[in-house]
This record gives sequence, structure tokens and C-alpha cells, in this order.
Amino acid sequence: MQFISTRGGIAAENAAKAITKGLSSDGGLFVPYTFPDVSGDFDNLLQMDYAERAAFIIGKFLEEYDKEGLLTACKKAYSQFEENDAAPVVKIDDNLFVLELFHGPTLAFKDIALTLLPYLLRTGANISGVKETILILVATSGDTGKAALEGFKNQEGVKICVFYPSEGVSDMQKLQMCTQEGDNVNVIGVKGNFDDCQTAVKKIFTSKECAAKLKDENVVLSSANSINFGRLVPQIVYYFSAYCDLVNAGEISLGDKIDFTVPTGNFGNILAGYYAKKMGLPVNKLVCASNSNNVLTEFFLSGTYDANREFFKTMSPSMDILISSNLERLVFELSGRDSAFTAERMADLKTYGKYSLAKDEKTALQKEFYAGYCDEEECMEQMSDSFNDSGYLCDPHTAVALKVANDYAAENNPQAKMVVLSTASPYKFSQNVLKAVGGKSVKDAFDAAKTLETLSAAPIPSQISELKNKEKRFSKVIDKADAATEVLRFAALK
Ligand SMILES: *Cc1c(COP(=O)(O)O)cnc(C)c1O
Repeated sequence: MQFISTRGGIAAENAAKAITKGLSSDGGLFVPYTFPDVSGDFDNLLQMDYAERAAFIIGKFLEEYDKEGLLTACKKAYSQFEENDAAPVVKIDDNLFVLELFHGPTLAFKDIALTLLPYLLRTGANISGVKETILILVATSGDTGKAALEGFKNQEGVKICVFYPSEGVSDMQKLQMCTQEGDNVNVIGVKGNFDDCQTAVKKIFTSKECAAKLKDENVVLSSANSINFGRLVPQIVYYFSAYCDLVNAGEISLGDKIDFTVPTGNFGNILAGYYAKKMGLPVNKLVCASNSNNVLTEFFLSGTYDANREFFKTMSPSMDILISSNLERLVFELSGRDSAFTAERMADLKTYGKYSLAKDEKTALQKEFYAGYCDEEECMEQMSDSFNDSGYLCDPHTAVALKVANDYAAENNPQAKMVVLSTASPYKFSQNVLKAVGGKSVKDAFDAAKTLETLSAAPIPSQISELKNKEKRFSKVIDKADAATEVLRFAALK
């Protein structure tokens, strides 16, 4: 399948090229030329396990990839998840379900894409005839960094460099990244927030000067952020999988529409749900849940995206984002795939920090989406309520989604079943979760985790407990202006 840029520049001939490049050279994002319709394939999908569903859905876009090879890669990726199930659905009450996406190697939903992306990228590079070393640049709000490092560590022909906001991630998230093993990895803190990291990385991608210098080192860049279509496509799968699991469990009948609530930051997760709907998944509403950085809530309500606002550091740091990259792909669809219009808006965003939708686009947006947000106090309350009322221990990001899902239900009295996406293990945010459910302030992340384990009877994942004794390998913190220099230095290391 052909891929086109949201800004109308040069198209990629196929998925292999789109994934290998990551970002279009015009600064736009690659999108598939069409969305394959799989609404007639449910009889098959219902019978499959998670890896088979993944290979089926992903294969619809990645036509030039070998089908058997893709299935083998999916099986290998998803065997790294607890109980061999990458996306179990947990019933909370008659109408409310939680889709748990955090049982992978690094305990966040990013693992679903990043356990598979190394294969998609390596194979894509081979198909495209790329011979250079691929340097993966990652801007992370906390979870992508670790998941990408784990996925790509010690991979032949690949290097990976992660930028994270030095004071903007949880203690456990920082430890996970700074203790990373592997001889092809680099982790750098940036003085600033996630948006600073993301902007710095995007600038390197589009810099001709950097590209020329990297060429001398025989290095090309790619991305493991959700701007890369290779990150998005595995995320489409769990929307289908959750639906199939609900049908198989007798909770819904095939054809019934359901709702999804998604804790949202860079808009990659919820965009995959929108793509699933375009492919024929019976979805009623997609509910976009934000924390106090509620730029998206306002956008969905008013039709104006305005990033000129105060940035808040919250206890759900993976959603502390004011410039949601993947929104560009949604705006592109809403405009009727008008790339000139999309390019103009993204230029406005860069220059003025804002842009607005036309009236009909706003109507189309509100037909598909509902949006709400959850502040810090409400997040604490929700973690406590979920634990006390349903015995469900959740992390702050999931709590944001549960709160907004409740608001949506109260306002709309929906008939459809609601699936809330749970994106991280509570143990990645042990201090705040403990404070909410146990009323205790404990400073040390490991002490908090121990107390939380006793209180909840949910065992501490080994990925957390083993962090305590790991060597800290990375401690560098830089100004964002120095990101390109760091990348060039790392690229030159043999
Ligand atoms: C990345 C992340 C999110 C936000 O997902 P987007 O795809 O950026 O919208 C939410 N929760 C957690 C725990 C995350 O790691």
C-alpha cells in the first residue's frame, strides 16, 4: 500500500519505506493511502489469538512484508507479555471494562508496539535496500523511552538515542531508562518538558545540515515515536482484539457498537482507535481523556487548538504534553485529506501556537469523539475509589481515563459498553498510587512499592524490584539547543 504525507510532499512507495523513514521529509506524517475494510473478517478474527490477530491486521497495511515472517515476529513479540496475553480485558462492572495494556517488558502500553517495531523497521530497511546504520531518535514523556530501549538494545545495524525531560518523569521511569543495558543505547535528560524534547528531535529530523553530517558517518535517522506509522499500526490491533474478546465472552453480540476511553498525550493511542473504526470496527464514541494539560479537551469542545497555555507537571507525566503530534493525522482526515490545508495549519501551530477547524470539521469531530479531563485531586480520588469500590488498583494515567469515562456515562447515559484503556502498571508510579489508596506519603519509590504490595496483594513486577540493584549508566542532562550535537557525537561512536 502507498503512503502519503499529511503535508502533501513526496509519498512513500510502501509501508516499508514509511516505517524506515519515520517522518516525511516535508515534516508531515505518513498516512496510508486507504484504510482496508476488515468488517467482513470477524468470523476469522474471533478464532485467533492475539499474535494472529496482530499479523492479520498489520499485514493489511504492510503488504510487501512476508506473511509468515510477520506472524513469527508477532508471536515472538507477544510471548514477552505476562501469560502470553498482550491485551487482557478485565470486567469492572456490567458496562465497564478495562483493557490492560501494561503486562509487557517495561510495564506500559508502549511495549505493544515497541516489542514489534524492531522487526518492522529491520525488515522495512531490508526491503527498501537501506544499508546504513539506522539511528533511532526518541523523545519520551517517560514510557516510550524505556520501551524503545528494551526493544532495540543490541540490535545489529541500529543505534538508539533517547531524550527525556530531566525533571518530568517518575522516579521509576527515570531509573528504568538510566540503568538501560546494551552497547548501542544512549539516554539524555533535557532541561525542559516533553514538548522541548519532541521539538528538538523533530528539528534534527528535518535539518539538512544534520543529514549531511550523518551521511558522512553512514548513518540514517528513524523514529520510534508514534509519528512513525510502525508504532501506530500495532496499536490498532488491541481495539479489534478487545472487541473480539467481548464477543467471545458473550458480553456483546457481533455488530454491537462499543465505546472506548483513552488516556491521551501525543494522540497516538486514540488515533489507532479511530483508524480501527475506519477499518470497520463497530465503535460508537472514542472518549479522549486528558489531565490538567487539557489542550485537547478544549480543542474537541471549541474547534480551536491553542498551545499557548501554562504547562503543568502532573502525576500522569506521560500525558504532560501541549503539542500532540498525532493530531495532525486526525486533522488531515477531518479536512477530507486536504494536505495543503493541513500544512497551513501546522505552520500556524508553529508560528502562533494555534489553529482552528472549520465548522463542518468541528461537527465531524464531535460526532466521533467526546473529550474530558481530570485534575490532580480528581485523579487521587479516582485511584482511591477504584481500589475501594471495585478492588481495582490503577495507575494515575488509567485513573484519568476512568474518571472521564464516568463523566461521559453520567452525561450521556450511553447504552453501549465502555472499554477503558489502561496504559501503565501502578508500580511505575508507586508513591502517588500509595498516597491515593493508602493515604501515606512515602518518599522512596521502592519503599512505596513494598507497602503497596502488602496493601493490594498485587505482586511487584520483577522489572521494578530488580531496578534497585542495577548500575546507573546514564546521567547526562543538556540544554535542548545541544541535542543535535549530542546526536552527532553518538552517531560517530564506533
Ligand atoms: C504514552 C502514554 C500515554 C499517552 O499515549 P499517547 O499515545 O501519547 O496519547 C498514556 N498513558 C501512558 C502510561 C503512556 O505511557
